[in-house]
Amino acid sequence: MTSSVLIVGGGLVGTSSAYFSAREGLNVTLLEQKSIGFGASGRNPGFVWLHCRNPGWALNVSKKGRALYDELRNDLPVPFEFRADGGLIYFHDERQAPIFKEFVAARQADGLDMTLLGNKEVRDLVGPIREDVVGASYCAEDAQINTPTVVAALAAGARAHGADLREGITVSKLIFSGGRIMGVETNEGNFFADKVVIASGAWTEKLMRASGLEVPIGRERLQVMATKPLPMQIKPVVYGPTAAKAYGLFRNLPSWDDALFRSKIEEESGYEMLTLASQRANGEILIGCPMDYPSEVDLFPTLDGLKAIADDIITDFPGLKKAGIDRVWAGVLPFTSDLVPVIDEIAPGLIMAAGHVFGNSAGPMTGKLISQLLTETEPEIDMTEVRWNRELDPVIPGATVHW
Ligand SMILES: Cc1cc2nc3c(=O)[nH]c(=O)nc-3n(C[C@H](O)[C@H](O)[C@H](O)COP(=O)(O)OP(=O)(O)OC[C@H]3O[C@@H](n4cnc5c(N)ncnc54)[C@H](O)[C@@H]3O)c2cc1C
Repeated sequence: MTSSVLIVGGGLVGTSSAYFSAREGLNVTLLEQKSIGFGASGRNPGFVWLHCRNPGWALNVSKKGRALYDELRNDLPVPFEFRADGGLIYFHDERQAPIFKEFVAARQADGLDMTLLGNKEVRDLVGPIREDVVGASYCAEDAQINTPTVVAALAAGARAHGADLREGITVSKLIFSGGRIMGVETNEGNFFADKVVIASGAWTEKLMRASGLEVPIGRERLQVMATKPLPMQIKPVVYGPTAAKAYGLFRNLPSWDDALFRSKIEEESGYEMLTLASQRANGEILIGCPMDYPSEVDLFPTLDGLKAIADDIITDFPGLKKAGIDRVWAGVLPFTSDLVPVIDEIAPGLIMAAGHVFGNSAGPMTGKLISQLLTETEPEIDMTEVRWNRELDPVIPGATVHW
């Protein structure tokens, strides 16, 4: 008999789990509370970012995930947007240069295709950037996706293999019998299956708590603006220097000096900024992002957050000062205290696939790993780091988290 699988959540992780599992012949039903891509996967600026991935599971899954996009482009029934133009973190203070030099050398030693760029090279790649930019770390292996198009393509692929993807169904509780998962309760009645996969991203802690399970997966909100379509002027995905302090790979360098990476705009706004810009094929430029840590998923951008984006981008990308703004939004990403997700069977038949900070590089690959778990096939990556039985710190709403 074909095993049946219920997947909770229609983001990158849920739709890729549905696609790969249905492709293996499993009987898949996916339940999404709103619409496919409603969560973080539909709201992010699309960095497929190997640049700052820690050695171990994070870098392994990201390298495999980056390569998987080539396969998916051939295999999925509808196209999605993917661009392999690399990624950079620019800096505009000479005192930051030795830190970037040390960072690039360390990443080269980790096997990444990285170089240090100078002013002209950065300005050639990023048209609207400030003229006094000093340089950038550049990773040729970084890439860009238009995330809603990827989620839609994975969903189409899952449906083409017979999966049933249902929208507008909220799972409120898990149903167990004798410690084994039997199904889920929803606003449209109970659903039963042999296995249940939890791919509910930043909503996971709340859903699991309703069933008496503590899963310490926190929430980080990021706010984004999208310009109207503009002529192509930003080729790679681009982070500003404020982003460096978000990453342990920078902060743990002997040359690191935190004070050099705190901006006046951060001081005034009270937000740590992940200054970024990426341009989609239709010409719109996504810019952001102030970060905070709500106690519940909160998808509203705030006036002070949007002001911080405007101030930050006008300072570092003067060429965008007059750009028309088409849309603003917020998204909430999930995280664990050790910054890799939980991908494991946490009770008989109940599989957790949540806590992805870097879902663009790890999400589709997670779906493949989930299908391997469901079909009891040896996973193609060592999964020790993402096991359930590791120590995770509790979530503290409001507390800043660095990656
Ligand atoms: C603004 C922003 C920028 C980001 N930038 C990047 C980036 O550049 N690169 C990168 O790799 N990552 C980035 N991320 C993180 C990335 O978006 C996530 O890692 C990824 O989307 C997680 O995918 P997911 O499927 O686990 O979660 P989600 O996409 O959030 O999907 C979870 C889904 O579950 C549904 N759901 C929740 N609870 C229930 C329930 N009870 N019943 C039914 N359905 C439910 C939700 O509606 C949602 O659609 C960013 C995130 C944000 C918000």
